[in-house]
Amino acid sequence: MGKVYLTGAGPGDIELLTLKAAKVIGMADVIIYDRLANPEILKMAKDGCRFIYVGKEDGRHILPQDQINETIYEMAQRYDVVVRLKGGDPFVFGRGGEEGAYLAQRGVPFEVIPGVTSAISVPAYAGIPVTHRGISVGFRVVTGHEAPGKPKSQIPWENFRSDDTIVFLMGLHNLKQIAAKLMEIGKPKDFPVAVISKGTTPEQQVVVGTLENIYERAKNLPTPALIVVGRVVELREQLRWFDKLV
Ligand code: SAH
Repeated sequence: MGKVYLTGAGPGDIELLTLKAAKVIGMADVIIYDRLANPEILKMAKDGCRFIYVGKEDGRHILPQDQINETIYEMAQRYDVVVRLKGGDPFVFGRGGEEGAYLAQRGVPFEVIPGVTSAISVPAYAGIPVTHRGISVGFRVVTGHEAPGKPKSQIPWENFRSDDTIVFLMGLHNLKQIAAKLMEIGKPKDFPVAVISKGTTPEQQVVVGTLENIYERAKNLPTPALIVVGRVVELREQLRWFDKLV
């Protein structure tokens, strides 16, 4: 039986791939990958490496998660080195935990290779630190996929009254409802928000606004995109750097 590496691919800039990820990608007999921010990574595989695409297109899985789990398991029966490659970090909304549990239950050895998560690195490339002394003492990374107001929403909106930075992943489609909900719980309507599209790549776009106007400003940005809510967004004025590079 082979070994599975649940591997983070980083947010897009290929140089944010870890050395450990690069090593296993070079050794892989098969790579099972999602829609990656940077498909150039696959060029680092050895000759004859098999590639299996199981990714999502705009939130829709090509394969349901249980079939992805089964594919990884089957590949581990056939090959020595199986790399399960995911954007960002495999345990940050990557369902890496479910895949690891599936393998553990079946006695398949695996390792986890953390990746540089978009939740922190994409704001950083926009010049937005997720914490900053005197401005934000913490940050939350939250799914934006559950529209607020849905009866089964598990998001504790009431907890978002603090000034902690909030980073919403997968939330662009719900931007209007998210902004409305945050105003409803008492955040001022001029509270700063940034939406960052295709962060860390040459196509990075950053749109800054307020809870009140961000939807109109950012609604047409391409995905992947994330939303940063917090006073730290104002630091971008001083700290922006990536979009100044030539
Ligand atoms: N495991 C990933 C997140 C998976 S959820 C990680 O740790 O980064 C997918 C969401 O991540 C997208 O909907 C988007 O909100 C965010 N995302 C990933 N890459 C991004 C990028 N380059 N720019 C902006 N947002 C990104």
